[in-house]
Amino acid sequence: MPKLISLIVPCYNEEKTLRLLYSEICKAVGAIKNYDIELLFVNDGSNDNTFDIINEISSGDARVKYISFSRNFGKEAAMYAGLCHAKGDLVAVMDADMQDPPSLLPEMVKLIETGKYDSVAARRVTRDGEPPIRSLFARMFYCLLNHMTNIEIADGARDFRLMRREVAHAVVQMKEVNRFSKGLYGWVGFRTYWLPFKNVERAAGETKWSFWKLLLYSLDGITSFSQIPLSLASVGGIMLTFASFIMILFVIIRKLVFGDPVTGWASLVCIITFIGGIELLCIGIVGQYLAKTYMEVKQRPHYIIKDTNIDTNS
Ligand code: UDP
Ligand code: MG
Repeated sequence: MPKLISLIVPCYNEEKTLRLLYSEICKAVGAIKNYDIELLFVNDGSNDNTFDIINEISSGDARVKYISFSRNFGKEAAMYAGLCHAKGDLVAVMDADMQDPPSLLPEMVKLIETGKYDSVAARRVTRDGEPPIRSLFARMFYCLLNHMTNIEIADGARDFRLMRREVAHAVVQMKEVNRFSKGLYGWVGFRTYWLPFKNVERAAGETKWSFWKLLLYSLDGITSFSQIPLSLASVGGIMLTFASFIMILFVIIRKLVFGDPVTGWASLVCIITFIGGIELLCIGIVGQYLAKTYMEVKQRPHYIIKDTNIDTNS
């Protein structure tokens, strides 16, 4: 019996890209011999026609499965749902917008088939078409992450990867609500090959990730409103610290240029503001950890399925 590849595609408002993606995937998997394919669309509470299109595609192709959430739970939850329900010997995760080119799939399968790797992950080596400020922050983030943790994440790593069932199973075993997949893949280990490719721009539609959304995601998931006040504490702390630096500069310059009749007052204010800023920053950081613990202990489900054509009991 041929082996099975499960292809998970998280979709949120992707009506403009899905048909194109489907035809590209069909082309790509045509080149993969000895494997059947299971295409698993996860509709993450889209409010456009994404679900209708998925339905239409699945009614004409028995290989196409879908899971539809009751609301938008986020890409991480969508990927997790896909991994939980994938039945394949190999499991792949890819974006719906063609930024993860399906044409890489045959090569990924070949690399896994060599037996040297348990997972093949795509890594973009250019960032063409991305705003420079976003690239800069992304680079800084990966640099920071690799220095501060003992998990290795390649710069430009995407969520696009093909893995053996064992790897997918290990990732599913980690049931935390604050999910940061790139870190989870690093944590479970296994042998990973980083497949370089040139950045591709979105085929159509718009990115769902604003700069702030990415920043918060990279701080590992401020995912619910109840955590935002804690983030504000951090931001307030940073701003106060920054303001105190400006005040220090101001006082120094004023002293040098005009002289200062009231000695002691200015430096005191600077110090109080500075310490206040640092304190708020620290409370904010502690708050981040507390908030994460809070979300984890609730043990809420990662997602709620509203509609699916797979047997979720098996
Ligand atoms: N996505 C999702 N839920 C969300 C946001 C995004 O399932 O809340 C999906 C989206 O449909 C796409 C993938 O995640 O398939 C990547 O999203 P996007 O292209 O907006 O991110 P970018 O490529 O800009 O990082
Ligand atoms: Mg994209």
